[in-house]
Amino acid sequence: MTADFDVAIIGGGPAGATTASYLAQAGLSVLVLEAEVFPRPHVGESLVPATTPVLVEIGVMDEIEAAGFPKKYGAAWTSAESRNVPHNGFTGLYHDFRAAEIMFVERDQPQVDRDYTFHVDRGKFDLILLKHAEQSGAKVLSGVRVLKVDFDGDPDLVTLNCRLGPKTADFTARLVVDASGRQTLLGRQLKVKVPDPVFAQYAIHSWFDGLDRTAAAKAAGVDGERSDYIFVHFLPIKDTWVWQIPITDTVTSIGVVTQKKRFQEADVDRETFFWDFVDSRPELAEALRDSKRVRPFKVEGDYSYVMKDICGDRFVMVGDAARFVDPIFSTGVSVALNSARIASKDIIAAHQAGDFGAERFATFESKIRRAVKHWYEFISVYYRLNILFTAFVQDPRYRVGVLKLLQGDVYDDEPPTALYAMREILTAVENDPTHLWHPYLGTLRAPLEAPTG
Ligand SMILES: Cc1cc2nc3c(=O)[nH]c(=O)nc-3n(C[C@H](O)[C@H](O)[C@H](O)COP(=O)(O)OP(=O)(O)OC[C@H]3O[C@@H](n4cnc5c(N)ncnc54)[C@H](O)[C@@H]3O)c2cc1C
Repeated sequence: MTADFDVAIIGGGPAGATTASYLAQAGLSVLVLEAEVFPRPHVGESLVPATTPVLVEIGVMDEIEAAGFPKKYGAAWTSAESRNVPHNGFTGLYHDFRAAEIMFVERDQPQVDRDYTFHVDRGKFDLILLKHAEQSGAKVLSGVRVLKVDFDGDPDLVTLNCRLGPKTADFTARLVVDASGRQTLLGRQLKVKVPDPVFAQYAIHSWFDGLDRTAAAKAAGVDGERSDYIFVHFLPIKDTWVWQIPITDTVTSIGVVTQKKRFQEADVDRETFFWDFVDSRPELAEALRDSKRVRPFKVEGDYSYVMKDICGDRFVMVGDAARFVDPIFSTGVSVALNSARIASKDIIAAHQAGDFGAERFATFESKIRRAVKHWYEFISVYYRLNILFTAFVQDPRYRVGVLKLLQGDVYDDEPPTALYAMREILTAVENDPTHLWHPYLGTLRAPLEAPTG
């Protein structure tokens, strides 16, 4: 039986739309099935520069530039107060724990031709990417939810059972790409999804109009000129932080991230919980109260997991459908775009060979697993001892190595030496209860080795 399409993609978010652009541009027939009608709101608004080569390669960068999203030149991390943490344990490490910042321009990143990336309104950004996929030749059906993928019939085909309003329909393809995000359609269906044992995180977020970002930056100890960076404000509550992301000149996205159990323990409504936490940084709370909330509070919970398999005979998973780790370093969209890029290479080769068997996706699997392993470990080190991160960012010996990770530049073969150094110091602190940094250890004890499922 002939398939309706070479490749059917579940989900038209950044991972699905980018995969569709790559494949359609290579001449494959591609169907994208998206449950929603775009534009739709979505969390995940601050990009890292590793998105740039992909946006350029699929030919959509000019449109992204023209959309007028705020440019993101760097990132800043702030604490409630100078903590005066002693640092004589590591000769040469000096640091100010009140605030740390980086600029992307400080490190040349291969294939990145500009010293900024973007903060994006995901409604607009995702729509541009999906339209671009369509213009590249993919067939996009919006408002169509995939219910199930059937692998049981013809061994050369998959059948996607879909729903469009009250109607149902089936489509066939030679390969299915799951880009359904944290819905993880295939991961759940194939029972390969494993929740992360430690990162049961919880976020409450909204948009605020009129926040004076320059004043907020200054109040947090950062130069007002950096006001359009992403800010990560550490709260004086363990393992808890707030993001501040510019969406337009006047609108700012604010989100509180903490452990899910804290929300359960607090037993209050979302809004009260949000303000109770933000109030622990009075200067931020005050600036925020002077602005106007322009969206309802939204919650994201339980969001870290790993898949035992991210590819197999006639399927590949990309973006959040393949894996999700805590968003502290704004990595999600870059992983979505780069997993789409790397998967597409293998899929195009598989198509040329006329074989969509699991072994065709070995390069994709090893590259993505290695990159995400580095991310996971970086995030894990951060939560175990976040002052170590601040110290490394400010130490000239490690700054560029940490910046490489923060740029999202994790897909090459180079070992992440800054990460290894962090791991070594962390182990020393954890193993020595008398260590001056021991009291600053976090309570989230994520394994240093990323779980593989
Ligand atoms: C609290 C929080 C903060 C974050 N902050 C950032 C950040 O600052 N920067 C960053 O880069 N990332 C961030 N992320 C991560 C980011 O949101 C994701 O990594 C990114 O959206 C992944 O893109 P995707 O295309 O894989 O999935 P999505 O963007 O989720 O797209 C999936 C699409 O699939 C569709 N879909 C789902 N199921 C079906 C189905 N059955 N049939 C048809 N369509 C379906 C959905 O409607 C959706 O449009 C954050 C995440 C969280 C939880």
